[in-house]
Amino acid sequence: MELLSRAVESGRVAHAYAFIGPSGVGRKLTALAFARALLCPARGCGHCRSCAQIGGGIHPDCHLILPDGQNIKIEQVRELERVAALTPHAGTHKLFILDDAERLTLQAAHALLKTLEEPPARTVLVLILSQVRALPATILSRCQPVRFSPLPLPEAVSVLKEHGIEESRAGLLARVCQGRVGWALAQDPGNFFERRDKALSLLAEVAAGGAEALFARSEALRDRLQAESFVETYWLWYRDLLCAKAGGDHRLIFHDDRQAELGQMAAAASWEEIVQGLRHCRDAWQALQGNVSPRLTLEVTLARLALRAGEEIRI
Ligand SMILES: [Zn+2]
Repeated sequence: MELLSRAVESGRVAHAYAFIGPSGVGRKLTALAFARALLCPARGCGHCRSCAQIGGGIHPDCHLILPDGQNIKIEQVRELERVAALTPHAGTHKLFILDDAERLTLQAAHALLKTLEEPPARTVLVLILSQVRALPATILSRCQPVRFSPLPLPEAVSVLKEHGIEESRAGLLARVCQGRVGWALAQDPGNFFERRDKALSLLAEVAAGGAEALFARSEALRDRLQAESFVETYWLWYRDLLCAKAGGDHRLIFHDDRQAELGQMAAAASWEEIVQGLRHCRDAWQALQGNVSPRLTLEVTLARLALRAGEEIRI
């Protein structure tokens, strides 16, 4: 991020930044790199004590604030104010990174506004959020905005390859993550492919074996993160089916290692079934975000996707 490096080099660091962009595009990684650049005597060498402490989340001048439960609460902002008023322990600055800043409660946001209006010397706040509208304009107008967007496909592939992911997998992973490389790297690529194959074989099993196959496997579907990744896999699968049915360019297909299977399924399914499948995936996603149990959500979704009688099941 050129803007941030220039700020560090010129010594003209703003009191507050808003890192705005979708999750998984490297907002937090950049915030931590920024912290290293500000607090390390060699501007972020990556291997000194200061850099190691930031990486380990224990640097006394770098504070990462996460939602406590659903929200960032007023008590957390009061603690921030208290620490911000002290002189830095080791470095020249005190840095506060508020991850998921859109989850500040209204009260907490008001309290934060006071700090933003009269920032203590050498204090730098970084608010990480996904959209501008997520916070009151009074807060954002006091932050220097830094925009983050997903990387274009070729760049995403090369970043993944730099992180040791083999070419054939990097392509698929880059397409699936849609340029959100931070997300892709957080997945653990080996696990990602294993989960995808598991999700797709479960769908095929239920389609072949009916309700019995579904209930035999549903005990194993309790994990929320796994449920989310299954639903995402189904969403992309149905999106690929739509693309295959329309005779779209094969480069637009995410799961291009399964073109033959996609082609067969796309030929056998009606347009309506495919579009309906996408709707079921969207409903499942909303159910998971709304805290419906992962097992119930997956059971209903698999039934809807793979069983004809599934239409009557509601989440
Ligand atoms: Zn260092």
